[in-house]
Amino acid sequence: MNEIDRKTSAARCPLCGNATEVAFKPFCSKRCADIDLNRWLSGVYAVPVKVDDDEDGERQADTDGSERS
Ligand SMILES: [Zn+2]
Repeated sequence: MNEIDRKTSAARCPLCGNATEVAFKPFCSKRCADIDLNRWLSGVYAVPVKVDDDEDGERQADTDGSERS
């Protein structure tokens, strides 16, 4: 059962399937790393939260690194 393991020992980019570049682990390029990051962020901010009874509309999405005025 080691054959499969050996074949997959070379990690592949989860996005496009190309061989992983060490510098951009686990992706093959900065592009793919970027895409994944965007997906991740989108996923985080797209989480459907049901907070109708929240306080004065305080949003967690405001933690974007921007200052609050
Ligand atoms: Zn890729």
